[in-house]
Amino acid sequence: MGVKNENMPNKGAAVEKGLETYTIIPYIPGGILDPATLHKIADVAEKYQVECIKMTSEHKIGFYGIKKENIDDIFHDLGMKPGGHIGKCVRGVKFCTGNTFCKKGYQNTVEMGLRIDETFHRTKTPAKVKISLSGCTRCCAESAVRDIGLIGTPKGWKLLVGGTCGLQVKKGKLLAKDLSDDQAMDYIGKIIDCYNEKGIQKRLGRVIDKIGFDKFSREVLGE
Ligand code: SF4
Repeated sequence: MGVKNENMPNKGAAVEKGLETYTIIPYIPGGILDPATLHKIADVAEKYQVECIKMTSEHKIGFYGIKKENIDDIFHDLGMKPGGHIGKCVRGVKFCTGNTFCKKGYQNTVEMGLRIDETFHRTKTPAKVKISLSGCTRCCAESAVRDIGLIGTPKGWKLLVGGTCGLQVKKGKLLAKDLSDDQAMDYIGKIIDCYNEKGIQKRLGRVIDKIGFDKFSREVLGE
């Protein structure tokens, strides 16, 4: 199922414009918070005079304007690992609230998203892999433009691969549909394995383009 990228090439910090301060993004699975964690984040931000706290597009919380000498202490005080700038691996999974809270949702994105995150987060890959889950085809978590996207339907999950939302927006291709949670987990593992076997240092969509979607699909689905 792949190797976890626990030894990061850096400390989960990115140097900012001006090269004097850093951005760090603590790992908060699914971006799910409780009041105690929010209080802790506020306390740590005050203690270290964090210049700015901003929600990221991947449902994380970014700390900006950090002094280099405070990076380790901030992670320590938060009791969190780095969640951003963690190299070539599966990044923190993003998901909407699905049928846990949204009346339009068909599938339980929260439970499934946390399960995928726990299983695959930090698994080494040739380039970063973004995974997201949306509870219905409204696609609020932008699952159609992620390397791996799950979209809930009344019959199960649709599984899309190879999407990206850079300057050349690419919609993921439908690999399978009507999947149960277990089937979707199994296929995600096989997609990552297949990606690693190819060993091409490009984003998943470009690798699929290179080898051909039909071939990639047969290898993953075992048909
Ligand atoms: S994608 Fe669907 S289930 Fe998820 S928040 Fe949007 S409308 Fe609700």
